[in-house]
Amino acid sequence: KLELQNVKKSYGKLDVIPGISLDIKSGEFVVLVGPSGSGKSTLLRMIAGLEETTGGKIIVDDEDITGQDPALRDLAMVFQTYALYPHMTVEQNMGFALKMRGMDPEEIAHRVADSVEMLGLKGLEKRKPGQLSGGQRQRVAMGRCVVRNPKLFLFDEPLSNLDAKLRAQTRLEVRRLHDRLKATSIFVTHDQVEAMTMADRIALLKDGHLQQIGTPQELYLTPHNVFVATFLGTPE
Ligand code: ATP
Ligand code: MG
Repeated sequence: KLELQNVKKSYGKLDVIPGISLDIKSGEFVVLVGPSGSGKSTLLRMIAGLEETTGGKIIVDDEDITGQDPALRDLAMVFQTYALYPHMTVEQNMGFALKMRGMDPEEIAHRVADSVEMLGLKGLEKRKPGQLSGGQRQRVAMGRCVVRNPKLFLFDEPLSNLDAKLRAQTRLEVRRLHDRLKATSIFVTHDQVEAMTMADRIALLKDGHLQQIGTPQELYLTPHNVFVATFLGTPE
């Protein structure tokens, strides 16, 4: 469960997010959409602790994590670009963070094998990133998060570098992964089809203001304003 209570962000005089309040239930898959510059990445980065908030509270499972060290937050962020270690194999890339934390090698091997299976990377364990397709690399990047078994996933346009066919396939896999891990997810995208097909609820942001949050059907059938109505209907 994730609660945002009047979370704010400004850079000097620039008010990027004047205050967002939002409740995301445990197990929910929320897709965050909005025009470029509306504050989507900023919001995710604040939840991840990569960016300080300038006001408000971020609460995960009743624990206030505002200001908490990002390394201590039980969440994973998946980015559009993914820096895998080129000299390490798939399984080494996936296990590296756990190794750094001093986890028992047997437990690491077990978790990596599980994630390899879950992400459909079987047979590719010994390959290096340079020997993989873009889609496979993005899966390794996700695998790196999955091995940590976080409760909360933050996706910032993870599929936008993939071609249309692969994107369509991967979005189903991401949603399945979320369901299987019983995770709570926020997924940022520019792709309306992605939003409509993946989301339990869609949150629409404009200029740092939450315009509406609801099921795809609610936003489509009962938009709160003209912006919501046109955003989901027309490409940007
Ligand atoms: P996109 O869809 O293009 O990724 P976004 O919704 O993710 O856009 P953000 O990256 O969150 O948008 O940026 C929101 C606003 O904050 C933009 O106007 C951006 O210029 C501004 N901004 C982001 N980072 C900084 C910074 N470090 N200093 C000043 N302004 C910033
Ligand atoms: Mg962004």
